[in-house]
Amino acid sequence: MNKVYIALGTNIEPRFNHLQEALRRLQEHKKISILKQSSIYETAPVGYTNQADFLNMVIQAETDCTPIELLDYCQQIEKELGRRRTIRFGPRTIDLDILLYNQENIKMERLTIPHPRMHERAFVLVPLNEIAPNTVLPLTMENKCVVDAIKELSGNDLKDVEIWTKKESVEE
Ligand code: ATP
Ligand code: MG
Ligand code: MG
Repeated sequence: MNKVYIALGTNIEPRFNHLQEALRRLQEHKKISILKQSSIYETAPVGYTNQADFLNMVIQAETDCTPIELLDYCQQIEKELGRRRTIRFGPRTIDLDILLYNQENIKMERLTIPHPRMHERAFVLVPLNEIAPNTVLPLTMENKCVVDAIKELSGNDLKDVEIWTKKESVEE
């Protein structure tokens, strides 16, 4: 069994439903079991900032899928949930990024693991820290663990990542 971390993000309504649907589809794959789920965070967009706020979360799973099989399945879910690729880093119904696959470093045309931008993203590290603070990021080469990587983020980045709770009265 391989231990993997996957980041989920959405900023097109109904955002909560998109997360739930992606989780359901990951869980229904016979070679994937979700072991841990972070809270859901609401986060300000980074990079292309002229778009709606995101909901982000991170899960830990175990899988018998190879890295490419897992990527294919994640991309299938993105497609099924209506993801359209227009603006790079732009609005999306769901984004599924593979952060870590065991402690492997993988560099293929379609797949880089660890995810190359994860260590600079508060919307990834904060939820990851909730479920796996001591996990080492092989990317940094310095055997830095998640909790230390977070310390390098600016307070400004961190303030844009807040736990989100579903308000039952609000229809999404
Ligand atoms: P970012 O990767 O900066 O978060 P994004 O998630 O918006 O941006 P996508 O449009 O979802 O980017 O993906 C672009 C390409 O990234 C995909 O076609 C996929 O092949 C590739 N890719 C490379 N490494 C990974 C990874 N670890 N997880 C998911 N996709 C990856
Ligand atoms: Mg992404
Ligand atoms: Mg992606």
